[in-house]
Formats: sequence, C-alpha cells, structure tokens
Amino acid sequence: MEFREIEEKWQKRWADAKTFEPDVSESRKFFLTAAFPYPNSPQHIGHARTYTTTDVYARFMRMKGYNVLFPMGFHVTGTPVLAMAKRIAEGDKEIYEIFKNIYNIPEHIISQLTTPEKLVDYFSKEIELGMREMGFSIDWRRKFYTYDKIFNKFIEWQFLKLNEKGYLKQGSHPVPWCPKDNNAVGSHDTQGDVDPNIDEYVLIKFKFGNYYLLTATFRPETIYGVTNIWVNPGVNYVRIESNGESYIVSSDAAEKLKHQMKLEVKEQIRTVDLIGKNCKNPMSGEEIPILPAGFVDPKNGSGVVMSVPAHAPYDFLALRDLKGTSFESYSDRLIQVIELAGYGKYPAKEISEKMGVANQQDGKAEQATEQLYRAEAHGGKMIVGKYKGEKALIAKEKIKQDMLGEGKALLIYDIINGPIYCRCGTLCVVKRVEGQWFINYGDEGWKEQVRECLKQANIIPKKTIVEYEYTIDWLKEKACVRASGLGTPFPFDRTQIIESLSDSTIYMAFYTISHYLKDVDAEKLSPEFFDFVMLGKGDAKGLSAKTGIEERLLNSMREELLYWYPLDSRHSAGDLVHNHLTFLLFNHVAIFPRELWPKQIVTNGFVLMEGKKMSKSMGNILPLREAIKKYGTDVVRFSVVSGADLSQDADFNPTMAEGIASRMGSIAMLVERCSEFPADVNSVDRWLLSAIHKKVKLSEERYKNLELRDIAQDAFYGAVNELKWYMRRDGKNRKVLREYLEYLILLLAPFMPHFSEEMWEKLGKKEFVKGSDFVSIAEWPRHDEMKIDKVADLSEELISETREDIENIVRIRKAAPRSIYIYCASDWKRKLYSMAYKEKKFDVVMKEAMRDDRMRADPDETQRVLQQLIKNVNYLSPLVLTLRQEMEALEGAKKFLSRELNADVYIMPEEKAQEAHAKKARQATPMKPSIFFE
Ligand SMILES: [Zn+2]
Repeated sequence: MEFREIEEKWQKRWADAKTFEPDVSESRKFFLTAAFPYPNSPQHIGHARTYTTTDVYARFMRMKGYNVLFPMGFHVTGTPVLAMAKRIAEGDKEIYEIFKNIYNIPEHIISQLTTPEKLVDYFSKEIELGMREMGFSIDWRRKFYTYDKIFNKFIEWQFLKLNEKGYLKQGSHPVPWCPKDNNAVGSHDTQGDVDPNIDEYVLIKFKFGNYYLLTATFRPETIYGVTNIWVNPGVNYVRIESNGESYIVSSDAAEKLKHQMKLEVKEQIRTVDLIGKNCKNPMSGEEIPILPAGFVDPKNGSGVVMSVPAHAPYDFLALRDLKGTSFESYSDRLIQVIELAGYGKYPAKEISEKMGVANQQDGKAEQATEQLYRAEAHGGKMIVGKYKGEKALIAKEKIKQDMLGEGKALLIYDIINGPIYCRCGTLCVVKRVEGQWFINYGDEGWKEQVRECLKQANIIPKKTIVEYEYTIDWLKEKACVRASGLGTPFPFDRTQIIESLSDSTIYMAFYTISHYLKDVDAEKLSPEFFDFVMLGKGDAKGLSAKTGIEERLLNSMREELLYWYPLDSRHSAGDLVHNHLTFLLFNHVAIFPRELWPKQIVTNGFVLMEGKKMSKSMGNILPLREAIKKYGTDVVRFSVVSGADLSQDADFNPTMAEGIASRMGSIAMLVERCSEFPADVNSVDRWLLSAIHKKVKLSEERYKNLELRDIAQDAFYGAVNELKWYMRRDGKNRKVLREYLEYLILLLAPFMPHFSEEMWEKLGKKEFVKGSDFVSIAEWPRHDEMKIDKVADLSEELISETREDIENIVRIRKAAPRSIYIYCASDWKRKLYSMAYKEKKFDVVMKEAMRDDRMRADPDETQRVLQQLIKNVNYLSPLVLTLRQEMEALEGAKKFLSRELNADVYIMPEEKAQEAHAKKARQATPMKPSIFFE
C-alpha cells in the first residue's frame, strides 16, 4: 500500500473541509488537551505516545457525537531555547552532531539557528509538520507561543489573581540554583529534565572545644537518642566561621552553605584530630564520642552525622561494623526515643536484622531507613524529653523550633534527589535568595480545596491518585520567577520572568479564545478583559467602551470559554504528575469557580526503542518524521498506543511495525474483493457477526478507562485472525463480510484514520454518515445484542478445538488416519456438567445427580464422568452446547475437517458408537467429543 499517498490525500481533504476546527455549537462538547511541546529540537517517536493517545480519544469522542476541541500551542518559556541558540552561535560541536546525525538537519540550516526566535520558528514548524503528518485532529487556528504578547497579558492576569488570593509571597527563599548561570533552575533547566526537590535539614551544634560540629538531620526529635557523632575518615573537613561562631563541616558542605549563609573557610581539619575525641550533646549536655563511618556522604547535608542507632538503621549498622576495631566498646549502646507499634525497643536493630542487612554499604540499608522513617513519622510516639507522649511528627517540629530559638541549631536546605546538574554542566545547589517571589503551594487552605478538586476529577490510571495526593501534601513554596529567559515579565517586578512550570497551569483556557485575539492589540487586553472573558465579571458594553474591543467579539469569547470549559481531559506522560499536573489543579482551584475545574487527567508511559530507553548516547533515537516516512503514519500511531497498557512503556521495533503494515494489507485486500464474494450462507457467518458485535460492545466499555492497548489488540490483531478463520471455514458471504468490515473500519478509525478513510471510501460508505463521507466523523457503531450469538461462538470454539485435538493425536501417533470418528457426549452429561459448574464439589454434585433417573440408573458411570469433570472444575464454562447443537456444529464443519485432516469424518452421539469404539466413545464430555481413528 502507498501509505504516504493515502495520508496526504486524507490530510488534505480534512483540512479543506475544516473537519477539526470546531466552533461553539448546539452539540455536546468535549475539550481535551495534551501538554504542549517545547520546540528546541525535533520530535522523536517517543513524543508521539501522549499525542496519539490524545488523538485516538479525540477521534473516538467525535464519532460518539461530541463536538471535540483538540488544540495545540508551543511552550518557549525559560532559558533552554536561549542556551541552545547560544551553543549553536558558538559552533558547539555536540549540538551540531546531534542535529546533523540524529535529526538529519543540513548544516547550513543549523548554522542559522543562532537566535531564540529563529530556533523556535524552525523547530515549532518542524514539530507542527510532524503532528500534521501524524494526522492529529488538531485545531491549528488556535495555536500560540508562550512569548506572544497576547499570552503574556493572560499570564499577567493569572498572577494578579494569585496575588489577590494571597498565594504569591516574597521573601528569603531557598531555590534550586545554578551557580554558573546565576539563575534559579527548574526541571526544564536540568540535564535529564529532573525537577530538583528541596527539603530542609536541621543543623545541630555539638560543642567541640571552641568549635561546633554541625550535624545535619531530618529528625531533630531523635536528639535524645544520640550515642555518638560520625565523621568519614576519607573526607576533607574544614572549619568555617559564620556569625562569630566556628563550625566543622565537610569541605563540600562548606561550598553549598556559601549560597545560604555568609561564611568564611578558615582551615582544614584532619579527621585524626576528631575521631576518638568527645563532643557535647546540646540537649543533654552529655559527652559523646566522635567515631568513623564510611556511609557518611560529604555531599549530603553537612558531612557530619549524629548517630541514633536505636532508630536509624545506618547508625546501628555502622556501630555494629565497629566490632573488632579499637572502637568496639562503643558498639552496644542504644537509646530508645520513640515508641512504635509493632516494634520493640530498638526498631533500627530489629528491621536491619529482619531484612538481613549485611553492613552499612549494603543497598538494603537504604530500604530499611525509608521504611522505618515513614513508620516512625506516622505512628511514632515520644517516650523521653520535654515532649514525652507527643506524636513524633509533632515533637519534631517543636524540638526544631526550640533548638533554633535557643541557638542550638541552624536551618539549611538541600536538594534531596541530587546530584542534579544544570544543562550547562554545573552541579545545582540551593541558594537562599532574598526578595524571591514564589507561589505558596504550602498554603493549607488552598491544599484542602485542591484535594476536593482531585476527588471530583477522574484520574486515569486510577493507581496514580496516590501520587497526586502525595504531591499535594508535599508541595511547599515554589519559586515562580527567574532572572532571565523567554516568557512573561512578572507584573510585580518586570525585571523578572515567570518561569516555565508557573506559566503553563491554566493555559488550556487560553485556547478557547486565542483565535479571536490574532488581530487584537495586546495592549487592549487589560485585567478587566480577562476578568470578563474568563470569570464573567463586569459587562461587555462597558468593557468595550474601555478597551475598544467590539462588544460582539467580547461576548463571543465569553461564550466560547463557557462552552469549552471545564477541560474534559488533560493528557501527559506520567512524569508530570509531581509538578505540572498538580500545579494545574492548584491554579484552576485558585482562579476558576468550582464548575470550571478540570474533569479528568490521563497519564501514559514512554516509548522504548527495541526494548531500550531512547538516548543520544545510545544512538537509538528515531525522529518522528523519519519514522512516518519509513513505516507510515498509521503504523506509527498504532505501534505507540497498542503495545502496552497506558501506564507502561510501549516498545517500538521494526518487526512489529512491518507486521502491522502487512495485516493492514490483508484487510485492504478483503475490502477490495468483498463484493466479488458470493452470497453463500454458512454456519460460520453467524459466528463472524457475533465476533464483531462483541468487539464493538467491549471497546465501548474499554474506552471508559482508555484501555487503548486492549481495544487496539482486539480490534486489529483479533480481527485479522477472525477473518482468516472465516475464510478457512469456507465463509463466503459478501453481505456478512461487508457488515464485518464496515464495523471493523469504524473501530479502527481512531487508531488508523488515513487507512480507515481509504477503506471507508472503497466500501462506498456514504449512506452510513450524515452530512459527510468521512469515517472520522461517522457515527460510532452500536452493537446489536441480538447478533451476539453464544451458540455460534461455542460452535466455532468446538470446531477449532476438536480440529486441534485431532491434530495433536495424529502428531503423537505419527500415522495419518483414513477415517476419523467423532463421538459427542450424551445430554445427561451436560446436565451433570452444569451441576459440576455450579456446585464445584464432588460430594455435593454426586448427591444431586442421584436424584436424576438417568444418572441413578448407572451410578458407576455417573461417578466416573463426574470425577473427570471435577478434575478440570476451574476450566468449566457457564454455558455449553446441547448434544443436538454440538452435532449440528460438527456436521456443518464436516467438509472443513475432512479437508483439513485429509480423512473421512464421521460424527455421531456416543450411544451410536459401534462395539469396538464403545469404550472410547464413553470418554466424551460436553464440548470435548471423543475421537477414534481408523
Ligand atoms: Zn547552569
């Protein structure tokens, strides 16, 4: 098949007919969006997963009769585009190589992409072309870029609203930071797109001579259980001076702390001058020893650790590891601080021993730590100290505040999922920025509403709900501006730019009106304008007088917003749950009334290339447009959504792609030849119709949870197998075949729209649709319950299994039979079968069977058959054919069986068996006839 030709033909026809450019109408609407792309490189096949999932869904809903809007824009906010343009301008070899070798961009074009505007222009066109070639049913009229003036006005308005609600804050604030760029960093600025997570550490001061050892901990409440201090003999320590005090920390920690406090590094400290000496616990005043431990990471916290062996597995293990050294005498001391249900006095010891953790280097130590940390945080109760009896989590906060107030501790921040590197290659740190603006996602009242919003939304897959809940709990302040980058200037400090995760939370609303604003002067888009269009505040007349925008236009925009909003479905890859998708909930809750909150969020997995993650270093990136050229759009579309369950990673490989293309060819051939078939009636006809109506019925159910894999597998691979079986069984009815193909093409249309349009046209399907010939907007098929034929289904199952059984016997006997006798089980056995299916237990069924005259007449035989049935009781089905139906089915397939097995075939009830076959014939059970060869 000439895929490319078919694709271009239908893409042009859709565009000419404006099939995917919906306006406000009387019909029910469905508005869905996928995360807009960041145009700093071309798309590869991995990008196709989310967009294809969204498009399949959009096409399905359209066929269900909805007026569907699927828009697209481009996200250009932040520094990556700037950085990329700069690297090209500097002639960066690596970038040139990637663009040239992976994406086949000619060198003379690369060398022109030296400004952010040119870069964005080139790659957004490239991405748009790819999306058009993929046949995505996008309304391109509504396209915008996040640096468009009109969009800037919208984001400005959003931030004014956030400020009105008190959700914007300014202050000294820890942010993830690139020391080289002197700029805050978010997930879009880091290598591998990792979102840096910041958490606070408490640095507790342990007096050591005239200095303090600064130990970093997440659990200040365990200060009462400290038995010693850990330093790592293999690490460089330094003495720093800050605020008139001297502290000892690792030299790596000193580097990090510079960004959060004023300090001076005074001198190196040798670990031999520390280990074996004592320091003082600030809480108890007790003298405790300083001991060596290899697990202490100089890059983590302060590089000095307080040891609480009763509650921290690492500390327990490190102490145990001291056995046999000169520090052995310290190794048995444990002090309980927290009481925890299900554990004894020393939970860290218990869990380490239970999990069989070998030593402090064992990977299981981390698992043990996490598990215990979580358990004690949620269920632990203090049994010592000032807050005895309080929950550990509450005591932790109080003890922290006490120590900070008494000058016994400091607060610092660290990236807890580090090390994370900036795109420039520098290690990211935490910087305390004065006057930093942030969105306060830590606001409890706000969180409470977001939890409600989450509850009313449909989350697919369901299992991700907990991830949203966790993120809502965990989120705190988020820095929302950067010193540089593309985007919207921050309205309260125009030297700052709103960063990329903060300007992409409610932009879906902007799609509803963006196409009206193309010719409107951005300066007219005052906050009152958006108050009216987005929230219905004020009146069109007054606003028109004020802004000079026509009243009619204002009303149209308001109408459009109200028609399309709320968003019916949001789509993205699963990695955005922890930031973007949760921010989306927060911001909708903050700005829009409850009835406009998002109704559904769907996340999906990634695409692997022949089982491996795609990466530049692996050299296995397949650019999307290249894949389309090579395999055809519909094959690519089908591959990325049919290969795995929604949340799993799908795998793309050429063999599978070729298999899809060849099956499409088989379907196409039948469509072409369908009318040449005679109108012969055969028992297999009913089965074929039953199969397609079952498919239709099932897929409708499966779309509710977007089980695209199951729908696709069943509709496509299942159908090809069924059609093959139909032909093999001498199915020849053009009417039946045509009905099957019509339904099949409708089912395939969301997945393979170009192929389906072509087939639809070949079938001459015009009367099927109202107003247009496109299958893309044809009515979604309704199954006919009357055509789902259980007897036909069971009959074909019987025929195909009987054929297989016979083949297996032939294989074992290694001799081909001349005649095959097939004996079907008597009806009394079917009665017994149903009893066995219902009651499952031998004794119960046997008792019941003895009430039946036929079975009571021959109890030995009844018992024998029942034993046979009970042995396979888990495989019995709720429904079996009667003797007459079984005979009819096999009789109808006699010619088929005879031809396939190359032998004469005789079919009869077991009672009619001749003397020599009688014993064998009695082995027959329902749906499993007995077979005799001659
Ligand atoms: Zn950097």
